[in-house]
Amino acid sequence: PFNTDKGQHILKNPGVVNAIVEKSALKSTDTVLEVGPGTGNLTVKMLEVAKTVIACEIDPRMIAEVNKRVMGTPLQTKLQVNGGDVMKMEWPFFDVCVANLPYQISSPFVQKLLLHRPLPRYAVLMFQKEFADRLVARPGDKDYSRLSVNVQLLAKVEMLMKVKRTEFRPPPKVDSAVVRIAPKNPPPPVNFVEWEGLLRLCFMRKNKTLSAIFKLSNVIEIIEDNYRKVCSFKNKPVPKDLNMKQVIEDTLTASGYAEGRARKMRVEDFLALLLAFNKADIHFL
Ligand code: SAM
Repeated sequence: PFNTDKGQHILKNPGVVNAIVEKSALKSTDTVLEVGPGTGNLTVKMLEVAKTVIACEIDPRMIAEVNKRVMGTPLQTKLQVNGGDVMKMEWPFFDVCVANLPYQISSPFVQKLLLHRPLPRYAVLMFQKEFADRLVARPGDKDYSRLSVNVQLLAKVEMLMKVKRTEFRPPPKVDSAVVRIAPKNPPPPVNFVEWEGLLRLCFMRKNKTLSAIFKLSNVIEIIEDNYRKVCSFKNKPVPKDLNMKQVIEDTLTASGYAEGRARKMRVEDFLALLLAFNKADIHFL
Protein backbone atom coordinates (compact mmCIF):
# COMPACT_ATOMS: atom_id res chain seq x y z
CA PRO A 1 0.00 0.00 0.00
CA PHE A 2 2.93 2.38 0.62
CA ASN A 3 5.00 3.94 -2.08
CA THR A 4 8.65 4.05 -0.97
CA ASP A 5 9.56 6.08 -4.09
CA LYS A 6 7.63 8.89 -2.46
CA GLY A 7 9.39 8.20 0.84
CA GLN A 8 6.24 6.81 2.40
CA HIS A 9 7.42 5.49 5.75
CA ILE A 10 4.68 5.98 8.32
CA LEU A 11 5.59 6.68 11.95
CA LYS A 12 4.03 3.88 13.95
CA ASN A 13 5.04 4.67 17.52
CA PRO A 14 2.59 7.18 19.07
CA GLY A 15 5.26 7.99 21.67
CA VAL A 16 7.55 9.29 18.93
CA VAL A 17 4.68 11.21 17.30
CA ASN A 18 3.82 12.84 20.63
CA ALA A 19 7.46 13.68 21.33
CA ILE A 20 7.76 15.47 17.97
CA VAL A 21 4.61 17.49 18.59
CA GLU A 22 5.72 18.32 22.15
CA LYS A 23 9.17 19.46 21.01
CA SER A 24 7.50 21.59 18.34
CA ALA A 25 6.03 23.71 21.19
CA LEU A 26 3.14 24.93 19.03
CA LYS A 27 0.98 27.83 20.21
CA SER A 28 -2.79 27.97 19.85
CA THR A 29 -2.28 30.93 17.48
CA ASP A 30 0.12 29.08 15.14
CA THR A 31 -0.40 28.26 11.50
CA VAL A 32 1.65 25.12 10.85
CA LEU A 33 2.96 23.96 7.51
CA GLU A 34 3.17 20.18 7.42
CA VAL A 35 4.81 18.43 4.49
CA GLY A 36 3.73 14.88 3.69
CA PRO A 37 1.04 14.22 6.30
CA GLY A 38 0.69 10.66 5.01
CA THR A 39 -2.09 9.01 6.97
CA GLY A 40 -2.17 11.98 9.37
CA ASN A 41 -0.56 10.69 12.57
CA LEU A 42 1.29 13.94 13.22
CA THR A 43 -1.42 16.07 11.64
CA VAL A 44 -4.16 15.07 14.06
CA LYS A 45 -1.97 15.72 17.13
CA MET A 46 -0.97 19.13 15.81
CA LEU A 47 -4.56 20.08 14.99
CA GLU A 48 -5.35 19.56 18.67
CA VAL A 49 -2.92 22.34 19.70
CA ALA A 50 -2.43 24.70 16.75
CA LYS A 51 -4.81 27.17 15.12
CA THR A 52 -4.42 25.77 11.62
CA VAL A 53 -2.46 23.04 9.86
CA ILE A 54 -1.80 23.42 6.15
CA ALA A 55 -0.71 19.98 4.95
CA CYS A 56 1.00 19.59 1.57
CA GLU A 57 0.74 16.07 0.20
CA ILE A 58 1.60 14.71 -3.24
CA ASP A 59 -0.29 11.40 -3.09
CA PRO A 60 -4.08 11.59 -3.70
CA ARG A 61 -4.63 8.40 -1.66
CA MET A 62 -2.93 10.01 1.36
CA ILE A 63 -4.93 13.21 0.86
CA ALA A 64 -8.13 11.16 1.02
CA GLU A 65 -6.84 9.31 4.09
CA VAL A 66 -5.97 12.39 6.12
CA ASN A 67 -9.21 14.16 5.16
CA LYS A 68 -11.22 11.08 6.18
CA ARG A 69 -9.52 11.08 9.56
CA VAL A 70 -10.81 14.50 10.59
CA MET A 71 -14.15 14.38 8.77
CA GLY A 72 -17.06 15.15 11.09
CA THR A 73 -14.76 16.06 14.00
CA PRO A 74 -14.13 19.55 15.41
CA LEU A 75 -10.63 19.38 13.90
CA GLN A 76 -11.95 19.38 10.34
CA THR A 77 -12.23 23.17 10.02
CA LYS A 78 -8.63 23.67 11.20
CA LEU A 79 -7.12 21.51 8.47
CA GLN A 80 -6.33 22.60 4.94
CA VAL A 81 -4.79 20.06 2.58
CA ASN A 82 -2.87 21.34 -0.44
CA GLY A 83 -2.39 18.65 -3.06
CA GLY A 84 0.82 18.54 -5.10
CA ASP A 85 4.61 18.55 -4.93
CA VAL A 86 5.73 20.82 -2.09
CA MET A 87 8.85 21.75 -4.06
CA LYS A 88 6.80 23.05 -6.97
CA MET A 89 3.90 24.77 -5.21
CA GLU A 90 3.84 28.27 -3.84
CA TRP A 91 4.02 28.16 -0.05
CA PRO A 92 1.36 29.78 2.13
CA PHE A 93 2.15 31.94 5.16
CA PHE A 94 3.08 29.82 8.20
CA ASP A 95 4.59 30.32 11.66
CA VAL A 96 6.19 26.91 12.13
CA CYS A 97 6.96 24.00 9.80
CA VAL A 98 6.77 20.43 11.08
CA ALA A 99 7.43 17.49 8.79
CA ASN A 100 8.47 13.90 8.51
CA LEU A 101 9.95 14.58 5.09
CA PRO A 102 10.53 12.24 2.18
CA TYR A 103 14.33 11.99 2.35
CA GLN A 104 15.03 12.61 -1.31
CA ILE A 105 13.99 16.29 -0.96
CA SER A 106 15.94 17.06 2.26
CA SER A 107 18.57 19.35 0.81
CA PRO A 108 16.42 21.42 -1.61
CA PHE A 109 13.71 21.60 1.05
CA VAL A 110 16.01 23.17 3.65
CA GLN A 111 17.24 25.61 1.03
CA LYS A 112 13.68 26.61 0.07
CA LEU A 113 12.74 26.93 3.74
CA LEU A 114 15.59 29.35 4.49
CA LEU A 115 14.76 31.49 1.45
CA HIS A 116 11.03 31.63 2.26
CA ARG A 117 9.66 35.02 3.37
CA PRO A 118 8.43 35.96 5.86
CA LEU A 119 10.76 33.67 7.77
CA PRO A 120 9.03 31.07 9.97
CA ARG A 121 9.83 31.00 13.70
CA TYR A 122 11.42 27.57 13.24
CA ALA A 123 11.05 24.19 11.60
CA VAL A 124 11.06 20.77 13.26
CA LEU A 125 12.05 18.24 10.62
CA MET A 126 12.76 14.53 10.43
CA PHE A 127 15.74 13.63 8.27
CA GLN A 128 17.88 10.66 7.51
CA LYS A 129 20.29 10.45 10.47
CA GLU A 130 23.42 11.08 8.34
CA PHE A 131 21.92 14.24 6.88
CA ALA A 132 20.88 15.46 10.34
CA ASP A 133 24.43 14.84 11.61
CA ARG A 134 25.83 17.02 8.84
CA LEU A 135 23.31 19.79 9.55
CA VAL A 136 24.20 20.09 13.24
CA ALA A 137 27.95 19.34 12.99
CA ARG A 138 30.24 21.89 14.68
CA PRO A 139 33.74 22.95 13.54
CA GLY A 140 36.12 20.03 14.03
CA ASP A 141 33.38 17.35 14.00
CA LYS A 142 33.83 14.58 11.44
CA ASP A 143 30.57 15.50 9.66
CA TYR A 144 31.34 19.22 9.45
CA SER A 145 30.86 20.17 5.81
CA ARG A 146 29.75 22.86 3.39
CA LEU A 147 26.13 21.98 4.25
CA SER A 148 26.77 22.62 7.98
CA VAL A 149 28.33 26.02 7.31
CA ASN A 150 25.72 27.08 4.74
CA VAL A 151 22.77 26.24 6.97
CA GLN A 152 24.40 27.57 10.15
CA LEU A 153 25.08 30.87 8.39
CA LEU A 154 21.31 31.36 8.18
CA ALA A 155 19.93 29.39 11.11
CA LYS A 156 20.47 28.00 14.57
CA VAL A 157 20.39 24.22 14.23
CA GLU A 158 19.83 21.72 17.01
CA MET A 159 19.47 17.94 17.22
CA LEU A 160 16.20 17.07 19.03
CA MET A 161 16.01 13.28 18.95
CA LYS A 162 17.17 10.16 17.15
CA VAL A 163 14.52 7.84 15.74
CA LYS A 164 15.27 4.20 14.92
CA ARG A 165 14.27 2.82 11.52
CA THR A 166 12.07 0.24 13.28
CA GLU A 167 9.67 3.01 14.39
CA PHE A 168 8.40 3.27 10.79
CA ARG A 169 6.27 1.08 8.59
CA PRO A 170 7.65 -0.03 6.25
CA PRO A 171 11.06 0.53 7.90
CA PRO A 172 13.47 2.58 5.76
CA LYS A 173 17.06 1.36 5.24
CA VAL A 174 18.55 3.94 7.61
CA ASP A 175 17.89 5.55 10.98
CA SER A 176 16.40 9.02 11.29
CA ALA A 177 16.72 12.10 13.48
CA VAL A 178 14.60 15.14 14.24
CA VAL A 179 16.27 18.54 13.95
CA ARG A 180 15.11 22.02 14.85
CA ILE A 181 16.09 24.78 12.43
CA ALA A 182 15.49 28.33 13.67
CA PRO A 183 16.26 30.93 10.98
CA LYS A 184 18.26 33.97 12.07
CA ASN A 185 15.99 36.95 11.68
CA PRO A 186 17.13 39.20 10.14
CA PRO A 187 19.51 37.02 8.13
CA PRO A 188 23.17 38.15 8.01
CA PRO A 189 23.90 40.58 5.16
CA VAL A 190 26.01 38.39 2.88
CA ASN A 191 26.27 38.06 -0.88
CA PHE A 192 25.26 34.40 -1.17
CA VAL A 193 26.86 33.92 -4.58
CA GLU A 194 30.24 34.95 -3.17
CA TRP A 195 29.71 33.05 0.06
CA GLU A 196 28.96 29.89 -1.90
CA GLY A 197 31.95 30.50 -4.20
CA LEU A 198 34.35 30.93 -1.28
CA LEU A 199 33.03 27.86 0.55
CA ARG A 200 33.36 25.69 -2.53
CA LEU A 201 37.05 26.55 -2.70
CA CYS A 202 37.73 26.20 1.02
CA PHE A 203 35.99 22.81 1.24
CA MET A 204 37.55 21.51 -1.99
CA ARG A 205 40.08 19.84 0.31
CA LYS A 206 38.65 20.31 3.76
CA ASN A 207 41.78 19.06 5.54
CA LYS A 208 44.24 21.20 3.60
CA THR A 209 45.34 24.63 4.77
CA LEU A 210 43.77 27.56 2.95
CA SER A 211 47.26 28.66 1.95
CA ALA A 212 47.71 25.33 0.09
CA ILE A 213 44.33 25.60 -1.65
CA PHE A 214 44.85 29.20 -2.73
CA LYS A 215 48.20 28.28 -4.29
CA LEU A 216 46.54 25.97 -6.83
CA SER A 217 46.93 27.40 -10.32
CA ASN A 218 43.31 26.83 -11.37
CA VAL A 219 42.11 28.63 -8.21
CA ILE A 220 44.40 31.58 -8.88
CA GLU A 221 43.18 31.68 -12.47
CA ILE A 222 39.51 31.94 -11.45
CA ILE A 223 40.29 34.64 -8.91
CA GLU A 224 42.40 36.64 -11.36
CA ASP A 225 39.61 36.45 -13.92
CA ASN A 226 37.13 37.85 -11.37
CA TYR A 227 39.65 40.47 -10.28
CA ARG A 228 40.00 41.78 -13.82
CA LYS A 229 36.21 41.91 -14.22
CA VAL A 230 35.80 43.84 -10.95
CA CYS A 231 38.56 46.30 -11.92
CA SER A 232 36.97 46.93 -15.28
CA PHE A 233 33.60 47.42 -13.60
CA LYS A 234 35.12 49.87 -11.11
CA ASN A 235 37.16 51.59 -13.83
CA LYS A 236 40.28 50.79 -11.86
CA PRO A 237 43.51 50.05 -13.73
CA VAL A 238 44.91 46.53 -13.38
CA PRO A 239 48.58 46.75 -12.32
CA LYS A 240 50.85 45.84 -15.25
CA ASP A 241 52.95 43.54 -13.11
CA LEU A 242 49.94 41.98 -11.34
CA ASN A 243 51.02 38.93 -9.37
CA MET A 244 47.69 37.47 -8.28
CA LYS A 245 49.32 34.58 -6.46
CA GLN A 246 51.20 37.05 -4.26
CA VAL A 247 48.17 39.30 -3.69
CA ILE A 248 46.13 36.30 -2.55
CA GLU A 249 48.90 35.04 -0.29
CA ASP A 250 49.40 38.48 1.28
CA THR A 251 45.66 38.91 1.86
CA LEU A 252 45.39 35.46 3.41
CA THR A 253 48.37 36.07 5.70
CA ALA A 254 47.04 39.47 6.78
CA SER A 255 43.63 37.93 7.52
CA GLY A 256 45.22 35.42 9.88
CA TYR A 257 43.63 32.45 8.08
CA ALA A 258 46.54 31.25 5.92
CA GLU A 259 47.06 28.21 8.13
CA GLY A 260 43.33 27.73 8.74
CA ARG A 261 41.55 24.58 7.59
CA ALA A 262 37.90 24.59 6.50
CA ARG A 263 36.98 21.68 8.77
CA LYS A 264 37.84 23.75 11.84
CA MET A 265 36.56 27.16 10.75
CA ARG A 266 33.37 28.68 12.19
CA VAL A 267 30.76 30.66 10.25
CA GLU A 268 32.29 33.85 11.72
CA ASP A 269 35.73 32.85 10.39
CA PHE A 270 34.41 32.38 6.85
CA LEU A 271 32.60 35.73 7.06
CA ALA A 272 35.80 37.48 8.23
CA LEU A 273 37.79 35.78 5.47
CA LEU A 274 35.32 36.85 2.78
CA LEU A 275 35.44 40.42 4.06
CA ALA A 276 39.24 40.44 3.98
CA PHE A 277 39.29 39.16 0.39
CA ASN A 278 36.60 41.63 -0.74
CA LYS A 279 38.57 44.53 0.74
CA ALA A 280 41.43 43.51 -1.56
CA ASP A 281 39.00 43.42 -4.53
CA ILE A 282 39.12 39.63 -4.51
CA HIS A 283 35.68 38.25 -5.30
CA PHE A 284 34.14 34.81 -5.77
CA LEU A 285 31.60 35.22 -8.51
N1 SAM B 1 3.82 12.29 8.16
C1 SAM B 1 3.61 10.87 8.00
C2 SAM B 1 4.16 10.13 9.20
O1 SAM B 1 5.01 10.72 9.89
O2 SAM B 1 3.77 9.01 9.46
C3 SAM B 1 4.19 10.35 6.69
C4 SAM B 1 5.62 10.72 6.38
S1 SAM B 1 6.29 9.93 4.98
C5 SAM B 1 7.99 9.80 5.48
C6 SAM B 1 6.44 11.18 3.70
C7 SAM B 1 5.12 11.69 3.10
O3 SAM B 1 5.43 12.74 2.14
C8 SAM B 1 4.31 10.67 2.32
O4 SAM B 1 2.96 10.77 2.69
C9 SAM B 1 4.49 11.06 0.84
O5 SAM B 1 3.38 10.74 0.03
C10 SAM B 1 4.67 12.57 0.95
N2 SAM B 1 5.47 13.18 -0.13
C11 SAM B 1 6.50 12.63 -0.82
N3 SAM B 1 7.03 13.51 -1.69
C12 SAM B 1 6.32 14.67 -1.55
C13 SAM B 1 6.38 15.95 -2.18
N4 SAM B 1 7.30 16.21 -3.10
N5 SAM B 1 5.49 16.90 -1.80
C14 SAM B 1 4.56 16.64 -0.84
N6 SAM B 1 4.47 15.45 -0.21
C15 SAM B 1 5.32 14.47 -0.55
